[in-house]
Amino acid sequence: SMTEQKNKDYLISINFDQIGGQEGPKKELLEALDFIVNKDLVSKLGIRPLKGIILAGPPGTGKTLLAKAAAKFTDSSFIATSGSEFVEMYAGVGAKRVRKLFSDAIKLAKKEKKESTVIFIDEIDVLGVKRGSNSSHMEYDQTLNQLLVEMDGVKSKDIQVLIMAATNRIDLLDDALLRPGRFDRVVNIPLPSKEGRLEILKIHSKNKPLDDVVDLDSVAAQTFGFSGAHLESVTNEAAILALRNNRVNVIQKDFQDAIEKVIMGEKIDRVPSK
Ligand code: ATP
Repeated sequence: SMTEQKNKDYLISINFDQIGGQEGPKKELLEALDFIVNKDLVSKLGIRPLKGIILAGPPGTGKTLLAKAAAKFTDSSFIATSGSEFVEMYAGVGAKRVRKLFSDAIKLAKKEKKESTVIFIDEIDVLGVKRGSNSSHMEYDQTLNQLLVEMDGVKSKDIQVLIMAATNRIDLLDDALLRPGRFDRVVNIPLPSKEGRLEILKIHSKNKPLDDVVDLDSVAAQTFGFSGAHLESVTNEAAILALRNNRVNVIQKDFQDAIEKVIMGEKIDRVPSK
Protein backbone atom coordinates (compact mmCIF):
# COMPACT_ATOMS: atom_id res chain seq x y z
CA SER A 1 0.00 0.00 0.00
CA MET A 2 0.94 3.66 -0.25
CA THR A 3 1.52 3.89 3.49
CA GLU A 4 3.81 0.87 3.49
CA GLN A 5 5.78 2.31 0.61
CA LYS A 6 6.03 5.65 2.39
CA ASN A 7 7.25 3.94 5.55
CA LYS A 8 9.92 2.12 3.60
CA ASP A 9 10.96 5.39 1.99
CA TYR A 10 11.41 6.87 5.46
CA LEU A 11 14.19 4.37 6.15
CA ILE A 12 16.32 5.87 3.39
CA SER A 13 18.39 8.75 4.69
CA ILE A 14 18.47 12.07 2.87
CA ASN A 15 20.96 14.94 2.79
CA PHE A 16 20.07 18.57 2.10
CA ASP A 17 22.11 18.42 -1.11
CA GLN A 18 19.76 15.76 -2.50
CA ILE A 19 16.97 18.33 -2.35
CA GLY A 20 16.97 20.64 -5.36
CA GLY A 21 16.18 24.35 -5.22
CA GLN A 22 14.40 25.66 -2.13
CA GLU A 23 17.48 27.65 -1.13
CA GLY A 24 15.50 30.10 1.03
CA PRO A 25 13.52 27.44 2.92
CA LYS A 26 16.67 25.33 3.40
CA LYS A 27 18.49 28.30 4.91
CA GLU A 28 15.58 29.12 7.23
CA LEU A 29 15.39 25.52 8.29
CA LEU A 30 19.13 25.26 8.94
CA GLU A 31 18.97 28.39 11.12
CA ALA A 32 16.19 26.81 13.16
CA LEU A 33 18.09 23.53 13.43
CA ASP A 34 21.02 25.39 14.99
CA PHE A 35 18.89 25.42 18.14
CA ILE A 36 19.06 21.63 18.23
CA VAL A 37 22.71 21.35 17.23
CA ASN A 38 23.80 23.94 19.81
CA LYS A 39 21.41 22.83 22.48
CA ASP A 40 23.89 23.33 25.34
CA LEU A 41 24.46 26.95 24.37
CA VAL A 42 20.73 27.44 23.85
CA SER A 43 20.01 26.24 27.38
CA LYS A 44 22.89 28.25 28.88
CA LEU A 45 21.42 31.37 27.33
CA GLY A 46 18.02 30.46 28.70
CA ILE A 47 16.48 30.28 25.25
CA ARG A 48 13.26 28.32 25.04
CA PRO A 49 14.04 25.12 23.08
CA LEU A 50 12.58 24.90 19.60
CA LYS A 51 9.69 22.45 19.67
CA GLY A 52 7.96 22.60 16.34
CA ILE A 53 8.40 23.67 12.74
CA ILE A 54 5.61 23.77 10.17
CA LEU A 55 6.50 23.21 6.55
CA ALA A 56 3.77 24.86 4.51
CA GLY A 57 3.33 24.49 0.78
CA PRO A 58 1.79 22.59 -2.11
CA PRO A 59 2.07 18.79 -2.41
CA GLY A 60 5.24 17.21 -3.77
CA THR A 61 7.56 20.12 -3.04
CA GLY A 62 9.92 18.18 -0.79
CA LYS A 63 8.48 18.74 2.69
CA THR A 64 9.01 15.14 3.68
CA LEU A 65 12.52 15.21 2.23
CA LEU A 66 13.32 18.36 4.23
CA ALA A 67 12.10 16.77 7.47
CA LYS A 68 14.26 13.72 6.82
CA ALA A 69 17.27 15.86 5.98
CA ALA A 70 16.67 17.82 9.19
CA ALA A 71 16.79 14.57 11.16
CA LYS A 72 20.02 13.52 9.49
CA PHE A 73 21.61 16.95 9.90
CA THR A 74 20.89 17.01 13.64
CA ASP A 75 21.82 13.34 14.07
CA SER A 76 18.30 12.64 15.32
CA SER A 77 16.19 9.57 14.95
CA PHE A 78 13.20 10.01 12.64
CA ILE A 79 9.63 8.84 12.96
CA ALA A 80 6.88 9.74 10.52
CA THR A 81 3.14 9.64 10.43
CA SER A 82 0.25 11.43 8.79
CA GLY A 83 -2.64 13.38 10.29
CA SER A 84 -5.03 10.98 8.61
CA GLU A 85 -3.70 8.12 10.75
CA PHE A 86 -5.31 9.76 13.78
CA VAL A 87 -8.78 10.03 12.40
CA GLU A 88 -10.97 7.36 13.93
CA MET A 89 -14.63 6.85 14.51
CA TYR A 90 -14.14 5.81 18.10
CA ALA A 91 -13.69 8.40 20.80
CA GLY A 92 -10.26 8.46 22.37
CA VAL A 93 -8.47 6.38 19.73
CA GLY A 94 -6.88 9.40 18.02
CA ALA A 95 -5.68 10.82 21.34
CA LYS A 96 -4.25 7.43 22.32
CA ARG A 97 -2.36 7.25 19.02
CA VAL A 98 -0.87 10.68 19.64
CA ARG A 99 0.43 9.52 23.04
CA LYS A 100 1.85 6.39 21.45
CA LEU A 101 3.56 8.40 18.70
CA PHE A 102 5.49 10.44 21.24
CA SER A 103 6.42 7.45 23.40
CA ASP A 104 7.47 5.46 20.30
CA ALA A 105 9.65 8.38 19.19
CA ILE A 106 11.47 8.47 22.55
CA LYS A 107 11.85 4.68 22.55
CA LEU A 108 13.30 4.70 19.05
CA ALA A 109 15.76 7.47 19.89
CA LYS A 110 16.95 5.54 22.95
CA LYS A 111 17.30 2.38 20.91
CA GLU A 112 19.33 4.25 18.29
CA LYS A 113 21.32 5.97 21.03
CA LYS A 114 20.40 9.44 19.74
CA GLU A 115 20.10 12.59 21.81
CA SER A 116 17.26 13.97 19.73
CA THR A 117 14.34 12.84 17.65
CA VAL A 118 12.33 14.34 14.81
CA ILE A 119 8.64 13.47 14.71
CA PHE A 120 7.22 14.22 11.25
CA ILE A 121 3.46 14.62 10.90
CA ASP A 122 2.34 14.94 7.28
CA GLU A 123 -1.10 16.47 6.61
CA ILE A 124 -1.22 18.08 10.06
CA ASP A 125 -4.34 20.00 8.98
CA VAL A 126 -6.35 16.78 9.17
CA LEU A 127 -5.92 16.69 12.93
CA GLY A 128 -4.98 20.31 13.56
CA VAL A 129 -8.06 21.93 12.06
CA LYS A 130 -9.50 24.82 14.06
CA ARG A 131 -11.45 23.42 16.99
CA GLY A 132 -15.17 23.97 16.84
CA SER A 133 -15.04 24.64 13.07
CA ASN A 134 -17.22 22.87 10.52
CA SER A 135 -14.66 20.30 9.51
CA SER A 136 -13.81 19.54 13.11
CA HIS A 137 -15.85 17.40 15.47
CA MET A 138 -15.41 16.33 19.05
CA GLU A 139 -13.16 13.38 18.31
CA TYR A 140 -10.73 15.52 16.28
CA ASP A 141 -10.74 18.16 19.00
CA GLN A 142 -9.70 15.52 21.56
CA THR A 143 -6.89 14.39 19.31
CA LEU A 144 -5.65 17.92 18.78
CA ASN A 145 -5.84 18.60 22.52
CA GLN A 146 -3.70 15.53 23.12
CA LEU A 147 -1.14 16.76 20.59
CA LEU A 148 -0.95 20.09 22.44
CA VAL A 149 -0.56 18.26 25.76
CA GLU A 150 2.27 16.15 24.35
CA MET A 151 4.01 19.18 22.85
CA ASP A 152 3.78 21.08 26.13
CA GLY A 153 4.92 18.04 28.08
CA VAL A 154 8.00 17.27 25.99
CA LYS A 155 10.72 17.62 28.58
CA SER A 156 12.57 14.33 28.45
CA LYS A 157 15.90 15.23 30.02
CA ASP A 158 18.09 13.17 27.74
CA ILE A 159 16.17 13.29 24.46
CA GLN A 160 15.18 16.45 22.66
CA VAL A 161 12.03 16.22 20.56
CA LEU A 162 11.44 18.32 17.45
CA ILE A 163 8.04 18.06 15.81
CA MET A 164 7.96 18.88 12.11
CA ALA A 165 4.58 19.03 10.45
CA ALA A 166 3.58 19.52 6.83
CA THR A 167 0.47 21.15 5.46
CA ASN A 168 -0.78 22.71 2.28
CA ARG A 169 -3.59 24.47 4.15
CA ILE A 170 -1.95 26.46 6.92
CA ASP A 171 -5.03 28.70 7.01
CA LEU A 172 -7.02 25.78 8.45
CA LEU A 173 -4.78 25.25 11.47
CA ASP A 174 -6.00 25.94 14.98
CA ASP A 175 -4.28 29.04 16.38
CA ALA A 176 -3.26 27.10 19.49
CA LEU A 177 -0.82 25.12 17.34
CA LEU A 178 0.94 28.27 16.19
CA ARG A 179 1.50 29.70 19.66
CA PRO A 180 5.08 30.08 20.96
CA GLY A 181 6.36 26.86 22.46
CA ARG A 182 4.43 24.80 19.94
CA PHE A 183 4.92 25.26 16.23
CA ASP A 184 6.66 28.60 16.47
CA ARG A 185 8.38 28.45 13.10
CA VAL A 186 6.61 28.32 9.78
CA VAL A 187 8.77 27.66 6.75
CA ASN A 188 7.03 28.19 3.43
CA ILE A 189 7.95 25.69 0.72
CA PRO A 190 6.81 27.02 -2.66
CA LEU A 191 6.83 25.34 -6.04
CA PRO A 192 10.39 25.36 -7.41
CA SER A 193 11.71 28.25 -9.53
CA LYS A 194 13.26 27.56 -12.92
CA GLU A 195 16.72 27.20 -11.32
CA GLY A 196 15.21 24.93 -8.67
CA ARG A 197 13.54 22.81 -11.34
CA LEU A 198 16.85 22.43 -13.15
CA GLU A 199 18.56 21.26 -9.97
CA ILE A 200 15.77 18.79 -9.25
CA LEU A 201 15.95 17.46 -12.83
CA LYS A 202 19.71 17.03 -12.45
CA ILE A 203 19.31 15.19 -9.14
CA HIS A 204 16.82 12.74 -10.62
CA SER A 205 18.75 12.29 -13.89
CA LYS A 206 22.01 11.47 -12.15
CA ASN A 207 21.53 7.73 -12.36
CA LYS A 208 20.15 7.84 -15.92
CA PRO A 209 22.22 7.77 -19.10
CA LEU A 210 21.22 10.95 -20.95
CA ASP A 211 22.03 11.57 -24.59
CA ASP A 212 24.73 14.25 -24.98
CA VAL A 213 22.37 16.78 -26.51
CA VAL A 214 19.67 16.57 -23.85
CA ASP A 215 19.02 20.12 -22.68
CA LEU A 216 17.73 19.98 -19.10
CA ASP A 217 17.71 23.76 -19.02
CA SER A 218 15.01 23.77 -21.67
CA VAL A 219 13.12 21.04 -19.79
CA ALA A 220 13.24 23.27 -16.70
CA ALA A 221 11.98 26.23 -18.73
CA GLN A 222 9.04 24.20 -20.04
CA THR A 223 7.92 22.88 -16.68
CA PHE A 224 6.55 25.99 -14.98
CA GLY A 225 4.14 24.98 -12.24
CA PHE A 226 5.63 21.49 -11.78
CA SER A 227 6.48 20.30 -8.27
CA GLY A 228 9.58 18.29 -7.41
CA ALA A 229 7.42 15.17 -7.42
CA HIS A 230 6.20 16.02 -10.95
CA LEU A 231 9.80 16.54 -12.11
CA GLU A 232 10.82 13.21 -10.64
CA SER A 233 7.98 11.69 -12.69
CA VAL A 234 9.22 13.46 -15.82
CA THR A 235 12.72 11.97 -15.53
CA ASN A 236 11.30 8.55 -14.74
CA GLU A 237 8.79 8.64 -17.63
CA ALA A 238 11.52 9.80 -20.00
CA ALA A 239 13.65 6.77 -19.08
CA ILE A 240 10.65 4.48 -19.51
CA LEU A 241 10.10 5.89 -23.02
CA ALA A 242 13.76 5.18 -23.86
CA LEU A 243 13.33 1.62 -22.65
CA ARG A 244 10.16 1.17 -24.73
CA ASN A 245 12.11 2.31 -27.76
CA ASN A 246 14.99 -0.03 -27.01
CA ARG A 247 17.41 2.81 -26.49
CA VAL A 248 20.16 2.82 -23.89
CA ASN A 249 20.15 6.64 -23.73
CA VAL A 250 17.37 9.02 -22.82
CA ILE A 251 16.93 11.60 -25.61
CA GLN A 252 15.36 15.06 -25.69
CA LYS A 253 12.17 13.74 -27.32
CA ASP A 254 11.70 11.35 -24.38
CA PHE A 255 11.71 14.36 -22.09
CA GLN A 256 9.26 16.27 -24.33
CA ASP A 257 6.86 13.32 -24.38
CA ALA A 258 7.30 12.78 -20.66
CA ILE A 259 6.38 16.42 -19.93
CA GLU A 260 3.19 16.00 -21.98
CA LYS A 261 2.40 12.76 -20.20
CA VAL A 262 2.79 14.28 -16.75
CA ILE A 263 0.67 17.30 -17.76
CA MET A 264 -2.08 14.97 -19.01
CA GLY A 265 -1.97 12.88 -15.84
CA GLU A 266 -2.07 15.78 -13.41
CA LYS A 267 -3.87 19.05 -13.29
CA ILE A 268 -0.90 21.39 -13.40
CA ASP A 269 -1.55 25.12 -13.50
CA ARG A 270 0.83 26.17 -16.24
CA VAL A 271 -0.19 29.75 -16.64
CA PRO A 272 2.45 31.99 -15.06
CA SER A 273 0.83 34.47 -12.69
CA LYS A 274 2.90 37.33 -14.13
P1 ATP B 1 3.22 15.73 0.11
O1 ATP B 1 2.77 16.97 0.79
O2 ATP B 1 2.41 15.37 -1.11
O3 ATP B 1 3.51 14.58 1.01
P2 ATP B 1 5.96 16.58 0.06
O4 ATP B 1 6.07 18.05 -0.07
O5 ATP B 1 6.18 15.96 1.39
O6 ATP B 1 4.61 16.12 -0.57
P3 ATP B 1 8.00 14.83 -0.81
O7 ATP B 1 7.31 13.60 -0.34
O8 ATP B 1 9.13 15.34 -0.01
O9 ATP B 1 6.94 15.98 -1.01
O10 ATP B 1 8.46 14.67 -2.32
C1 ATP B 1 7.94 13.64 -3.13
C2 ATP B 1 9.00 13.20 -4.10
O11 ATP B 1 9.21 14.25 -5.04
C3 ATP B 1 10.36 12.99 -3.46
O12 ATP B 1 10.51 11.68 -3.04
C4 ATP B 1 11.31 13.36 -4.59
O13 ATP B 1 11.48 12.27 -5.46
C5 ATP B 1 10.59 14.44 -5.33
N1 ATP B 1 10.95 15.79 -4.89
C6 ATP B 1 10.12 16.73 -4.39
N2 ATP B 1 10.75 17.87 -4.14
C7 ATP B 1 12.04 17.67 -4.48
C8 ATP B 1 13.22 18.47 -4.45
N3 ATP B 1 13.18 19.75 -4.02
N4 ATP B 1 14.38 17.92 -4.85
C9 ATP B 1 14.42 16.66 -5.28
N5 ATP B 1 13.36 15.85 -5.34
C10 ATP B 1 12.18 16.34 -4.96
